[in-house]
Amino acid sequence: MADTNAECNIKVLCRFRPLNQSEIIRGDKFIPIFQGEDTVIFGGKSYVFDQVFPTNTTQEQVYNTCAKQIVKDVLGGYNGTIFAYGQTSSGKTHTMEGNLHDSQAMGIIPRISQDIFEHIFAMDENLEFHIKVSVHFQLQLLILTKNNLSVHEDKYRVPYVKGCTERFVTSPEEVMDVIDEGKANRHVAVTNMNEHSSRSHSIFLINIKQENVETEQKLSGKLYLVDLAGSEKVSKTGAEGAVLDEAKNINKSLSALGNVISALAEGTKSHVPYRDSKMTRILQDSLGGNCRTTMFICCSPSSYNDTETKSTLMFGQRAK
Ligand code: ADP
Ligand code: MG
Repeated sequence: MADTNAECNIKVLCRFRPLNQSEIIRGDKFIPIFQGEDTVIFGGKSYVFDQVFPTNTTQEQVYNTCAKQIVKDVLGGYNGTIFAYGQTSSGKTHTMEGNLHDSQAMGIIPRISQDIFEHIFAMDENLEFHIKVSVHFQLQLLILTKNNLSVHEDKYRVPYVKGCTERFVTSPEEVMDVIDEGKANRHVAVTNMNEHSSRSHSIFLINIKQENVETEQKLSGKLYLVDLAGSEKVSKTGAEGAVLDEAKNINKSLSALGNVISALAEGTKSHVPYRDSKMTRILQDSLGGNCRTTMFICCSPSSYNDTETKSTLMFGQRAK
């Protein structure tokens, strides 16, 4: 992959999922035309990214191209963030998580977990590792009433659901347990909301601290893996009331993220508006600068979604 953005270390990768069964039955057209490794033509316009993954790309190919190096970097003491952006059902969760318990279908998070432990087991015996993972869902609609999960604000004033899991882990299996538990917590939180909603950012954090027991030298790195809330426009969801407010909040936080990424991508030392959203405040020390930042732009190939897909592709272009 060409490193076109070496200075700020932001990579933008675009992945198209295949047409799904209902799109095929409806007779939707398959719109994207893939050209070379880094270009897709969509609706007559051409979009260039660091890499474009056509519909038949396997989970393993995606991982090897983009995430493998990040594991090495985080073990080397760098921070990083990998995002998945796109409308609901564009393949964000498939890319980030996939099927956690299937070696072919597993996505980036389980592969990273396995890779980290493989590297650690192969390392110098004098190194002692402490690996902490946490999962939290930034639920926007916090009308939690009759349930046993209470909402708190952490020091960045980010609402989170207490009970969301944070734990030291010693194997990839334990990482999967934490994710499964986090999902169960989220499910409880969502179904306990007065207004039903399933749109939320989900943020998974791997924190690695290492110490050389002989020299007492310390090193730490952390990696955020973020499955962003669906980017679809409010009108398409036909939302009202609290759900509409939630949708507006999500769209606001996504555009704040877009502004941060594009300010970083410009590479000028100018103002980066980290403080404009809760999420960018959390991620501040893991975006830009010396950090490794990768953004997945997830797209539907269907003519039915072409307006959303164009806006997703445009979002990705702003980061270039
Ligand atoms: P999102 O998280 O963006 O809402 P999902 O990842 O849940 O979307 O994907 C929606 C559906 O499409 C899921 O059933 C998923 O398994 C399937 N899917 C997504 N991406 C791919 C892909 N690249 N190849 C095959 N199936 C996919
Ligand atoms: Mg999803």
